[in-house]
Amino acid sequence: MNKAVRKAVIAGNWKMNKTPAEAKELINAIAPLVKDAGCDVVACTPFVDLSAAQEAAEGTNIQIGAENCHWAVSGAFTGEVSAQMLAAMGVGIVIIGHSERRQYFGETDVTVHDRVRAALDAGLTVILCVGETLEQREQGITNELVALQTKIALGGVSGEELKRIIIAYEPVWAIGTGKTATAQQANEVCHVIREVIAQLYGPEAAEAFTIQYGGSMNAGNAAELLAQPDVDGGLIGGASLKPADFAAIVKAATEG
Ligand code: PEP
Repeated sequence: MNKAVRKAVIAGNWKMNKTPAEAKELINAIAPLVKDAGCDVVACTPFVDLSAAQEAAEGTNIQIGAENCHWAVSGAFTGEVSAQMLAAMGVGIVIIGHSERRQYFGETDVTVHDRVRAALDAGLTVILCVGETLEQREQGITNELVALQTKIALGGVSGEELKRIIIAYEPVWAIGTGKTATAQQANEVCHVIREVIAQLYGPEAAEAFTIQYGGSMNAGNAAELLAQPDVDGGLIGGASLKPADFAAIVKAATEG
């Protein structure tokens, strides 16, 4: 597998942080630090910050994304936002299936699948999150579980549509905990995901497919993680709110 054929993607997941005014400030602080990035740079923000972040990111190399979308085009789903609504405001990318959505908001593999379908239908690129809990890792079922999450989410997705999907391998026990998977653990599971893509879509599609690691990636550990042969980028939570740290990760991806 030739890593050089894949574009690295570093995406921030701001979670439920920042007001619109603060979002502008944060984008303004990050933009000059990442302007020479040799990778794609994305900031996924709360819905209410999208317009402000888009405005601040205009003319920069930062793409603005959302953190979720609903599976229906429109309808009686109070409090939800559809993929079409995001597309209509010029948002091009969305995180789906983040473990916090699975853990706190009843997201299942089936609803993740449905949201992926909706996002693709609206023309969006998807960052699809998969990953095991600590209990599942200790049971020794990480690889099967992640393979299954991937297969269910991608059900019915065509080879052409796959080009608009990125998978983020995010071990739940490493998210926001300060515990990072070792570079070897991260690479092993990213490799399993690549094998699943190869089974479903063939070796060429697998070789071109971008797989991120996420889980307490920071300025100090990014270089080692991003140097792994199957790790093509990162989904960054806490460190994406700190301009210098986020920029250091982007630099590591550019070099790795
Ligand atoms: C995330 O929110 O996807 C994430 C990986 O968070 P953190 O980097 O804070 O662990």
